Amino acid sequence: MSEKICVRGGRVLEPDGSSAPYRDLIIDDGTIVDIVSPEESRGVTTQIVNATDRLLIPGLVNAHTHGHGSLGRGMGDRWTLELLLNAGPWLSGKRTMEHKYIAAALNAAEMILKGCTSAYDLYFEFPAPTPEGMGTVAQAYRDVGARVVIAPMLADMSLYEAVPGLMDSLPEPLRRQAGQFALNPFEETAAACQTFLESWTHPADEAKPALAPTIPLHCSDPFLERCRDLARAHGVGLHTHLAESRTQAVSALKRYGRTLTAHLDALGVLGPNFTAAHGIWLDDDDIARLAANGCAVAHNPGSNLRLGTGVAPIRKLLDAGVRVGVGSDGTNSSDNQNMFEAVRLAANVSRVADVDPDRWVSAGEALKMATSEGAAILDLATATGRIEIGARADIVFLDLDNINLVPFNDPVNLLVYSEDATSVKSVMVNGRMVLDNGRFTRFDCRSLVRRAQDAAEELRARTAENRQISAQLERHVAKHCLCLCREPYPVERLICDPVKE
Ligand SMILES: [Zn+2]
Repeated sequence: MSEKICVRGGRVLEPDGSSAPYRDLIIDDGTIVDIVSPEESRGVTTQIVNATDRLLIPGLVNAHTHGHGSLGRGMGDRWTLELLLNAGPWLSGKRTMEHKYIAAALNAAEMILKGCTSAYDLYFEFPAPTPEGMGTVAQAYRDVGARVVIAPMLADMSLYEAVPGLMDSLPEPLRRQAGQFALNPFEETAAACQTFLESWTHPADEAKPALAPTIPLHCSDPFLERCRDLARAHGVGLHTHLAESRTQAVSALKRYGRTLTAHLDALGVLGPNFTAAHGIWLDDDDIARLAANGCAVAHNPGSNLRLGTGVAPIRKLLDAGVRVGVGSDGTNSSDNQNMFEAVRLAANVSRVADVDPDRWVSAGEALKMATSEGAAILDLATATGRIEIGARADIVFLDLDNINLVPFNDPVNLLVYSEDATSVKSVMVNGRMVLDNGRFTRFDCRSLVRRAQDAAEELRARTAENRQISAQLERHVAKHCLCLCREPYPVERLICDPVKE
């Protein structure tokens, strides 16, 4: 049955962010069917949602996260990307179905609390994804009330096999211990992916599947081609960490004799369903290839800063016509799921990449990346990331009395540079309040917090052995990758010069 509601008394952010006039929203069955002045809505007699003293903005869209990362919060310091991956077997492994659910629910809950209503989640379930595991993750997001695209992370080579020369550089018995982290043959993982895609039962506008061959260097070419074919056959997205670190970029030249992007292009992996996470170490030719193939990039400035991977060439990507969204990345690499922080960093970090202010990412561009552009990347079977007639009612209610928004000067500047998610009061998804004045309406958050604390305790014991092996490997991984990182590369994305320093 149709449920008509009127969100009354709030200020609604205009699509270009330039102003926020008082407007009332008429919502029917989860869709915004009219946007009217307060005078026009006076005669509307339907269920009223009071939005007095609230600024209404579209639910933010997280273009790249890892739900499993929520249980790894605050685990490491001074980790490069490769050291984070070296910690992977204990940081994200040995999880039961209960742990997988809790991690995803915790991720979704933090997103909602901080004004984000949908995410592209690259979830860790090794050695191969299962319908049960991915279904559990989908259910967790749906229980909290967030939309999600779920892409299992896939690989058929471990870090130690993927980085040229790393395995050979390890002394015995460490080499043998690293060998324990070998992954399944790709045929088995590909078969598991097919089963996962064929068994998907969740509604496509709430939870949708995709595939994430996680890092090209960690996937053999036949596996990448199989992922390409599976994604096309099932009409789902492909999402990979592309040219994230200098070590990866140098490794690609050694392994393929060409850049990662050129290699994926040659394999036919690039296309309109392809999202490149990070995209830092791209040269002009790579950017042209992404543009020519209609690919998107998920920009993760928080994680790029935390892992010291570099500054992504966002202005060049935008100039080339590549669609760019913003992601928080996993909490185990960027510490939170705060999309307001990610948006601010997306704008601010562009300032160290160019002296010409016209080439910096503007507040309006950053906000667009985290709303309508992100929504286009997720491509859920419904219109989100905007407040307009015909769009789904995914709406964040911000407290206009919160100091972040006082005085209420330029709305888009306030949202990008001043807001830190503390003014989020309520969140509506699909026309229903999932967070109402700071309280979740659909699940018991206090119980989830207790379960998460218990899970962390359990996992400490379950992963102790892997943690010990990773600790022994860490020094060797750091040294080998630093040597690779210091080799010449045609483009530079760090402020320092790693070749000379
Ligand atoms: Zn990631």
